[in-house]
Amino acid sequence: MSEVRIRPRQVLVLIIVFLVVLMMVHRNGKRTCQGPDYLQAIYAQQQADTLPTIYAITPTYYRPAQKAELTRLSHLFMLLPHLHWIIVEDSNTTTPLVKNLLQRAGLEKRSTQLNIKTPPEFKLQGKDPNWIKPRGVEQRNLALSWLRSHVDVDRHSIVFFMDDDNSYSTELFAEISKIQRGRVGVWPVGLVGGLMVEKPILNEDGTQVTGFNAAWRPERPFPIDMAAFAISMDLFIRNPQAIFSYEVQRGYQESEILRHLTTRDQLQPLANACRDVLVWHTRTEKTKLTAEVALQKQNKHSDAGMEV
Ligand code: UDP
Ligand code: MN
Repeated sequence: MSEVRIRPRQVLVLIIVFLVVLMMVHRNGKRTCQGPDYLQAIYAQQQADTLPTIYAITPTYYRPAQKAELTRLSHLFMLLPHLHWIIVEDSNTTTPLVKNLLQRAGLEKRSTQLNIKTPPEFKLQGKDPNWIKPRGVEQRNLALSWLRSHVDVDRHSIVFFMDDDNSYSTELFAEISKIQRGRVGVWPVGLVGGLMVEKPILNEDGTQVTGFNAAWRPERPFPIDMAAFAISMDLFIRNPQAIFSYEVQRGYQESEILRHLTTRDQLQPLANACRDVLVWHTRTEKTKLTAEVALQKQNKHSDAGMEV
């Protein structure tokens, strides 16, 4: 049998071809996770299975702009693999609108669709402005009870109350991932409480919260917005009494939940020692549909057969 002889030059060519193929594969791999360093770090930690899951709880209700708001949020989830979305609809059933949205964003496996209707007596608003009934109470509590019976308590995870109309940076979720077991992370929120920014005030080395700059009801135990904090899940397991309540005054929901879970000096400051704004308390303008109403009087709809 004749010997197959490989010359050193052929070996060299083979090695070069192998290296080129390796570089191409590597570059293709990289293409799927381009972006800023904090996102790269999230993807690397996700690969290593060292990222805590963030359970984002979103109460939502039907109005003309609902799908637009939820579509905005869904893009965050598409970029951030460690988020699990608990959407709780304020309705008697879950809706195809939310189901379709989750499906089209490819989030079926990383989301939970729940529903609970706010009882009508709690929807009455506007008589005494100090007692306007809080929104999303029933929905957030249902999500908490779902979490208490579904999460793996041995794995560190984090809970964030994520209203559907605010504006969130992906960077916020990199910060939330830093929350330690047993702690509540806090950071500034833009455009809220009559200020450009509401923020915790820190000690000199930026490690402890010593106060808050709130102008609206600064006497609250925790004068911060719902978007200003996230909570290590183990605190909810250890404190089963921690739920939202209808019995508290307007603006006291945040204090109501936090008082069961932490103290001011235990808060974990995030977002560059509370110097960065990564979330804004935006509110979408009420939709004007005068022409649509006119159409409806003729029994017509601009959106006939369409989901808007
Ligand atoms: N929400 C709800 N049912 C309602 C009103 C509001 O589920 O009847 C939800 C809403 O979609 C949002 C959260 O509760 O995710 C807070 O409501 P909103 O943004 O109107 O409150 P605000 O901005 O005034 O704090
Ligand atoms: Mn809002």
